Amino acid sequence: SLLEAKKYVNKVYETVIKRNPNESEFHQAVKEIFDSLVPVFAKHPKYMENGILERISEPERIISFRVPWVDDQGKVQVNRGFRVQFNSNLGPYKGGLRFHPSVNASIIKFLGFEQIFKNSLTGQPIGGGKGGSDFDPKGKSDGEVMRFTQSFMTELSKYIGPDVDVPAGDIGVGAREIGFMFGQYKKIRGGFEAGILTGKGVGYGGSLARTEATGYGTVYFVEEMLKDKGLGFNGSTVVVSGSGNVSIYAIEKATQLGAKVVACSDSNGYIYDENGINLDTVKRLKEVERKRISEYVIEHPHATYSDKGFEIWQIPCDIALPCATQNEIDAVSAQLLVANGVKAVGEGANMPSSLEAIDVFLHNNVLFGPAKAVNAGGVAVSALEMAQNSMRLSWTFEEVDAKLHEIMKDIYRNSVAAAKEYGHPGNLVVGANIAGFTKVADAMMTQGIV
Ligand code: GLU
Repeated sequence: SLLEAKKYVNKVYETVIKRNPNESEFHQAVKEIFDSLVPVFAKHPKYMENGILERISEPERIISFRVPWVDDQGKVQVNRGFRVQFNSNLGPYKGGLRFHPSVNASIIKFLGFEQIFKNSLTGQPIGGGKGGSDFDPKGKSDGEVMRFTQSFMTELSKYIGPDVDVPAGDIGVGAREIGFMFGQYKKIRGGFEAGILTGKGVGYGGSLARTEATGYGTVYFVEEMLKDKGLGFNGSTVVVSGSGNVSIYAIEKATQLGAKVVACSDSNGYIYDENGINLDTVKRLKEVERKRISEYVIEHPHATYSDKGFEIWQIPCDIALPCATQNEIDAVSAQLLVANGVKAVGEGANMPSSLEAIDVFLHNNVLFGPAKAVNAGGVAVSALEMAQNSMRLSWTFEEVDAKLHEIMKDIYRNSVAAAKEYGHPGNLVVGANIAGFTKVADAMMTQGIV
């Protein structure tokens, strides 16, 4: 019954809290998923009897390690590295590495936990994992970044492998960092194992369209949500937070579909350009020159810059795409978006909306696409990169992009169907969580108590 299922879920949630004290982000991710799953346990008591929830919320393995390196002044620096190998019932652990000063066990666990369900949703054979370090690449020289990432990989290399665990990028880890890590792994192993990392350069085993995948996939997913209501990107006003890899390619695709993207941001503040953001400028500033977004207004003096980053959500828009970081939209920002008439929100970042913000969107009938469905295109194309590496061939941009588009449509359809089947029609938070969960749960049942 629903009541029994609720009791079971709450009991396991209490255990998670007790076992992982002071890890608010991990608690938040677990709470959202657990609450969604109540109707599943009510319908299938076998999952309770098999302790699926107790097992899935405890990582299979957590690795934490010292990362010593020498800075440009010759001083020894020490950072902490992590890899959480959360779940491997569907395939090798798969998930990015985040280099950011906020990284700690809670952040990596929340990301790794979400990754299980996201990866399941893609339909690709990949388990869930995540890693990273509290290293801050901002303001570091290329040499410092190289020495740090080499040291990081020297330890990480003991725990990964093309059929074991395949890391990729996330915040602070892009083409440069992946390149350095690939080189270090290759040197340690004495062999060219292309499938050890994804997000590689296209010249040495990377997939075409991987760079674009998360941003394009985000827009493909939101397009499906809009289409169902007779709406679309064409002629709409869009606000995208962030200006990293996800944001840049979300802006590009939304613009291609006829939208006007009027704002984007970085961790210092946001820019507003009523004519629509000039993406060439943003790309050059962020991808090539590694500068702050505030410099945009030097080249485009009609645009404005504000150093109050969270106020980006005060800008009226039809579609909001939070593509920066966790908890960037709180209940107040969500209320503002609703008051200004937002029609759709698609989470390009991981967990950008607080639980209270999600409630605001759902209660006001805003079309809400949750992160683990919306931003799954990145890891989906990572799985396609692994497939190409195994076959020792590479697909064209058009082939990969077409596969990505189909995967995003499938995720949308499956999430809609699961929400309906379990009594929450139109609620994609519940739908994505259930669709992602049931596939992993069935694999766990089949593979025994391990
Ligand atoms: N960091 C991205 C994510 O959150 C991509 C992971 C990957 O490609 O393995 O899904």
